[in-house]
Parts: sequence; C-alpha cells; structure tokens
Amino acid sequence: MAPTEPSFKRFVFILIDGAPYAVFRGLLENGDLPNIKKYVVDRGSLNKAVSVFPSTTGPAFIPFFMGLYPGTVNIPGIRWLSKSNFHLPHRFKRPGVCSYMGLDGLRFEADLPIDHPTLFNFFSPVSNIYNLLARGCPPAKNRTRWMKPFFYTYAHFSHRWRFVNRMAIQHLHKAAEAGDEFIMCLFPAVDTFSHLTEIRSQQVFQTYREIDTAIGKLIHILQKTNTLEETLILITSDHGMTDTHTHIDIPQHLDDGGWRCLHYPKVWRQGAVSASMVSGNGMTHLYFKNSGKGKGWGERMSFEALQQIGVIGSLIELEGLGLVAGQSETGDIIVQSRNGQGRISCHLQNKTCENPQGVATTFKSADSLRFSYRFTGIDPLKYGVRHEHLSSREALYETYDSPYPDGIVQLWQIFKSERTGDLVLSAESGYDLRARYEVPEHHATHGALMAEHLNIPLATNHPIVGPYIRSVDIFPTVLSLCGHTVAEDSIDGRVVK
Ligand SMILES: [Zn+2]
Repeated sequence: MAPTEPSFKRFVFILIDGAPYAVFRGLLENGDLPNIKKYVVDRGSLNKAVSVFPSTTGPAFIPFFMGLYPGTVNIPGIRWLSKSNFHLPHRFKRPGVCSYMGLDGLRFEADLPIDHPTLFNFFSPVSNIYNLLARGCPPAKNRTRWMKPFFYTYAHFSHRWRFVNRMAIQHLHKAAEAGDEFIMCLFPAVDTFSHLTEIRSQQVFQTYREIDTAIGKLIHILQKTNTLEETLILITSDHGMTDTHTHIDIPQHLDDGGWRCLHYPKVWRQGAVSASMVSGNGMTHLYFKNSGKGKGWGERMSFEALQQIGVIGSLIELEGLGLVAGQSETGDIIVQSRNGQGRISCHLQNKTCENPQGVATTFKSADSLRFSYRFTGIDPLKYGVRHEHLSSREALYETYDSPYPDGIVQLWQIFKSERTGDLVLSAESGYDLRARYEVPEHHATHGALMAEHLNIPLATNHPIVGPYIRSVDIFPTVLSLCGHTVAEDSIDGRVVK
C-alpha cells in the first residue's frame, strides 16, 4: 500500500456498544442526535458497515483494533471450549474452557496474537476508557482500569448504567483537554439497557441523547484547543440487537436427546458429552465429545457424522433456531435451516482449501481466496442465487443488503478457529439460546448471523465513500487517514475510502 498524506493528527474513537444501524440512523434522521449530525455526519458520512460473526462484545472489538477476524485470532466467542485441550484432570486449566464474562475477562488481551499491533501502537499519548482490548495502551493511560470492575459490578446489580456512562463522558472530556492523540471511549449503556428493557426503550433512547450531548461538549473542547480540524472522529458500534420474546434452552434440549451438556455456569457437570458456549445470546458453539483415544474431546466432528447420530435433525426442529452450521468432511462449511442446505467452499487460486484452519496463517494468500456458494431446497441464507469463485470483496458486495450480510465469508472465518464448535448455531430474530442462568433476564439479543445484529453505524467527520465496509476495514482505513500504513497482507481488512 502506498503511503498517503496524513489528514488527521488526532483520533477520537467512540464505540456505542450495541447500537444497531437502523436505530442509530432513525435517531439521527429524527433530530435526536443534533451534535453527531452537525459535527460528524454532515461534515463526513454515515455508512452502514458490517460487523463480524459472532456479533458480540469482545470478539467483535478485535476487527477495530487489529483488522483481524475473531476466527483468525482464535477467539471465536465470548465463551469457548478447546476440544484438544479440554481433558481431565486439568480441564479448566486454560486453554480448556473460557468465559470472558468472568475472571477470564482479564486474560482477553493475553489471548490475542502477540505479533500484531493494535491501534494504540500507532499514537501517543493515548487514552482508553472501559474498552477491554487495551493492548498497547500504557496502564496509566487506561483511565478506567481500576474502577471498571467496581462500576460494572455496581451497575450490574443496581442497573445504574447511566452512572457508568457519565464516568465515561468525564474521562472522554478530560482526555480531550489533555491533548491525547488517540482517545478510545466505550459507552456500554445502550447494550446493557437494551438487554434489560428493549432496543427502543426510553432508557436506551435517553442514553443515545446523553452521548450526543457529550459529543457536543467534546467538539467545544476541540474548538477551544484549535484541534477540531485535525481530529478524526469516528462513531460506531460492535453489533446491533433485536428484541427477544423467547429463550431456547439448548442445554436442556441436548440433555433430553441423550447428549448431557456442559454449559456456563454448570461447567463442572460430570459425564457430559456435549457443551454449549453461548455468545450474546444469539449464537452458541456446540461441541461433542468424540475421543475414544488419548486426551481431550477429540477432533472437530464433521457435519455428516453429527447428522448420522441425529444431532442436526434434532436441533433444526427447534422453533426459533435459524441456522445450524458445521464443517463437512470435505472441508466445506455447511449451513442448514429447516427447509434447505447451503454449502460454502473456499478455493485458493485453483486449489481447494482442504480445511479452513489451514488457511488461518496464510495471510499473503487472503486476496487470492475464492468463495463459492451453492444450496439445495430453500436457500438458508436467502441469497437465492448460486455464487462461484467470488473474491472476499465480491462476496461482501453480493450479500451486503441481504438478511445475512457477508454470511459466506463470516461463516468461513469463524471455522478457521480451532476453538469453534463442531456446530455453530444462530437464532432467529426474537429468540435467544440461553433460557437459564442469565441474571437479570435478557430482553434483547445479539451475536447471531443476521442483518439486525451485523449492521452497524459508521459515522465519521471525514467522508468515507464506501459504501461496502466491514468492521475489519476500519483499522487500516483509520490508520491511512492518520498517515500510518499497515501491511495489508498481515490483516483481514482493507483500506476503504
Ligand atoms: Zn450485550
């Protein structure tokens, strides 16, 4: 990539956790976000970008900071199990089983590949507010590192997420006044209030308006310090959300079918032969024990083998379970719905990729990958056409405005991870995959492979013409706008202008 003229010296990155594109755009058009409209969108642009699968906090942050898919970095969910490392007597010794929602959250950064830079490595001084992916940020500049666990615990039990957001606003303004070159500010309350209520509740809308007011004051600070023109402001979200009316009890269903299921918090169950590791709660990884020999739970079971023992048929009958995806014996990815089956195959130049995991480290070849998609019966991804030999970009264009945007590449990338389940389930809108042990009860869902969860707003005070952009593209695009370059053969994203 040729070096470009630096356009911006400072970068303010606002991440509104759980803001769906459609809700954000609606508020903007209704005049509810006057500062974001006047100072960001009217000077630049609002794009509909596409997040990753699983569309959930944690894995969906990685693209912004590193330009990599969750599957590439082997973090395929907020919870996962590693079949090869999960064995007695040390099955809980990492990396056997993990939930970043608990103490493992402290290890999230350590699980990222060490040889890839983050956004923090390109700027100085920097500030980080609440975001959990702070590698490269000096500890002293991780402004909420001590208070975050207390604030989050307090808000979890008291539902005072407005207080948590207010603290974020204070730190955002302080960092701007201090002249920090890169400020990363995460606002968690849209996601948490949506889970507690619904995605368009008064509490959620009020949170958006408070963030807009905070942006107004940020602009004022930047004007006062004469740095507004040299500051790139980017507002986005890690995932969208949908309202939830029904919780599907996947572990109970597997128990009933004779596949005794391990799941959080019941990860100590004896005699389990399956595991469900849910994210967001619209998706879950399912693992089946298949080791007769040696340690661990064996290798990934093929879709065909699971079909033969009746698992696929049993799952697909569940009302509200949209998609069941797995890996074929041939290496293809199979996606099954009640009325049809799709098959994603990936070719490297003229060769078939034997296994998506085999492609994980072959970054140099990423642009020469070709994707084909065929289906029988009713197309589970609703594309309705057969695709042959599409590049990753072409696969994005072809599916952008569909109910499953970027579904071909997103299903392929998640199966690159060794920790991805034998099966990956994705719920339909209105349903989630966790019926018990979610306290407080969730009334909104994300994580699934669907437009409502994958479509995220991308508001910038510099026009990004796009119009086709993934969250992995934001890393190289922002760096390019700020005069930095990154080798495109080392990442999944591409510069979009
Ligand atoms: Zn959430």
